[in-house]
Amino acid sequence: MDTNPQNDFLSSARILLHDTFGYTDFRPFQAEIITALLQKRSVLALMPTGAGKSMCYQIPALMADGVSIVISPLIALMDDQVAALRLAGVNAAALHSGTQPEQVKKIANDMQQGCLKLLYIAPERAVTQRFLDFITQINISLIAIDEAHCVSQWGHDFRPEYRRLSVLTTRFHNIPTIALTATADLRTRDDIVHYLYLQNAQIFISPFDRANIEYRIVEKNNGKKQLLKFIQSQGKNACGIVYCNSRKKVENIAAFLCEEKINALPYHAGMDNEQRQNNQRRFSLEDGIVMVATVAFGMGIDKPDVRFVAHLDMPPSIERFYQESGRAGRDGQSAISWLCYGLNDWVLLRQRIEESQASVEQKNIEYIKLAQMLAFCETTDCRRQYLLNCLGEKHNLHNKCDNCDNCIEPPTLFDATVAVQKLLSAIYRCQQRLNVGQIIDILRGKITPEIQEYQGLSVFGVGSEYSERQWRSIVRQCIAKGYLNIAIHQLALHLTPTAADLLKNKQNIHLHIPYEKHQFKPSHTQFFTERQEKLLNALRLWRRQTAESQQVPAFVIFSDKTLTQLVEYMPTTAFELHQIYGLGDAKINAFGEEIMAICRQFKNVQAA
Ligand code: ADP
Ligand code: ZN
Repeated sequence: MDTNPQNDFLSSARILLHDTFGYTDFRPFQAEIITALLQKRSVLALMPTGAGKSMCYQIPALMADGVSIVISPLIALMDDQVAALRLAGVNAAALHSGTQPEQVKKIANDMQQGCLKLLYIAPERAVTQRFLDFITQINISLIAIDEAHCVSQWGHDFRPEYRRLSVLTTRFHNIPTIALTATADLRTRDDIVHYLYLQNAQIFISPFDRANIEYRIVEKNNGKKQLLKFIQSQGKNACGIVYCNSRKKVENIAAFLCEEKINALPYHAGMDNEQRQNNQRRFSLEDGIVMVATVAFGMGIDKPDVRFVAHLDMPPSIERFYQESGRAGRDGQSAISWLCYGLNDWVLLRQRIEESQASVEQKNIEYIKLAQMLAFCETTDCRRQYLLNCLGEKHNLHNKCDNCDNCIEPPTLFDATVAVQKLLSAIYRCQQRLNVGQIIDILRGKITPEIQEYQGLSVFGVGSEYSERQWRSIVRQCIAKGYLNIAIHQLALHLTPTAADLLKNKQNIHLHIPYEKHQFKPSHTQFFTERQEKLLNALRLWRRQTAESQQVPAFVIFSDKTLTQLVEYMPTTAFELHQIYGLGDAKINAFGEEIMAICRQFKNVQAA
C-alpha cells in the first residue's frame, strides 16, 4: 500500500487534471508545485509563457477547503480565466471595476457559504481595508499572485499597486502563497521575494526553451512583401501577431494587409481607447485575426492558439524578443517566430537609445542588449541555443534543435578574409567619415557626387565582385562580430580596436553568404483528407457559434489541439470523448452530444 501522503496528493491531483480539465499528464514542475502548495509551503514559480502556470494553483484550489484568492493585473485576463473555469464546472468569480453590485453580493455570499473555489481580484481591490477585513472571516486556502514581476521596476510592466500586496501577504503569512511570472531575470526575482515577503518560498525555475516554436530570421529586402508572403504561407485561419516599432508603421501595415485580404487589425497606444479594446476583443474572440501592434500589445495576451508572431522590425533586446515571440503557441502546438531585420533597424534603435532620457549607465546597458540582438540575428549557430544562452541557461551552441532556420538549412560559410580586409581598409582610408551606403559605393566603384573626392583612392572599385546586398550582409556581420561600429549622429562607419587586431594578426574570417532561404511551410503541418477538412470547418463553425452565444473566446470552448484530435478520432461515444485532449466531465456534459452529432454526420458519410 502506498502510504506516502505526497503520492496521495498527486494521484488526487491527477484525477482532477483528467476529469475536470481533460489532460492526462502534468507538464514539467506542475506536480512539484502543486505538492508544495498542498503541503502549505509558499512558492515562487518562474515558468515560460504557455508552460501552464494557472494549473499550478487551480488544482490545489480545487483540492483544498475554502476559497483561493488570485491576484491578476488585467480585467480581460481574469474574465477569460473565470469563463474557462466555469465551463470546466468550477465555481470561480472575478471581482473588478466591471463587476455589477448584485454579482458582488453573490460572490460575498458564496464565499461565506464556502462554495466559491477561486476568486480573481485586481491588486488595488485586494489591499483595501474592507476586503482584508472581509476575508479575515473567510476560510482562505491559498493566495496566488499572477504576473508577479509587476512588483519590479526592472521589468517592462511595473505597477505600483503590486507593491502594496505585501499588506496581504504579511497579514496572511500562514496561508500558502504562490507568485507566478514568466520573467526570469535575477533582479526581478529578488524584487518579487523582497516586496511580497516570500523569503521562505520554494523557488521553481522551469527551463525556458519553447520547443514548439520554430525560429526563422530573414534579412529585410522588402519587408512588407516578405511579411505578406509569410502570412499567406500560414493558411487562412492562422491567428498571428505582427510587431512593428512605430505607431505609424502599425497603421500602414495593417491597412496594407487588409488590402491584401488578410483579416488584420491595428493596435497601439495612440489609438482611441474604445477602438483598441474592441480590436483586442476581436482578436481573442475570432478565428484567424492578424493583430498588427506595437509593444503596447503585451501583457495579458493569453490567447493560446496564436500560430505565429512576426517581427517586422528588430526588437531592442533578446528579452523583449523572447517575451514577444513567446506569445505564439501557448497551447503547445507548433508555432513560428519570424523576424525580418535590416541594418537600418539597428541604426534607428541606437538613435532611440541615444535620444532617450536614460542615464549614461542605463544607455550603456541598452547598447549592449541591442548588440546582442544583432548578434542573434547574424549568428550561424542554432538560434534556440543562442537565445537560451542569452537568457542565462548554459547550452552548447553546437547542438542542433532541428527547429530553427540555421538547423534546418545550415548557412553556407565562405572565406571572407579578403573581403573584410577590403572593407576595413576602405573605411580607414576614408577617415571613418562615410556611411554604409557610401562605403559600399566606393568598394563597388560607383561614382556619385557625394564620394567624388574619394575616386582616386586605391580602394576605389576593389570590391566589385560582390553585390550591394552582399556587402550589406558583410557589414552587418562585421558589426555583429564587433569589428565595426556606426557613429550615432553622422552614421559614419568606424573601426573598433578589435578590427585593428584583426588587421594585424591576419587571421582568417568566415562569414555566411546572404541568400533567400526558407521554403515557407505552415506552422501546423497536419494534413487532412477532404472529408476531415469539412469536419474541421463544421466543428470550427460550431465552436465559433457556441463561443458567441456564451460570450467567451473560442479557445475557451476548446483549443486547436482538441479540434485536431476531434477531427482525427471522430468520437461518437462518451468513452471516446473522454480520450480527447482538453475535454473534462463538465464540457462533455455540456457539449458532448452536439460534438458527437457533428462527428457522426461525417463518420457515416465516410462509411457509406
Ligand atoms: P501560462 O500562464 O504559463 O502562460 P496557461 O496556464 O495559460 O500558461 O496554460 C497554457 C495552456 O496549457 C492552457 O490552454 C492550459 O489549459 C494548458 N495546460 C496547462 N496544463 C496542462 C497540462 N498538464 N496538459 C495539457 N495542457 C495543459
Ligand atoms: Zn536550432
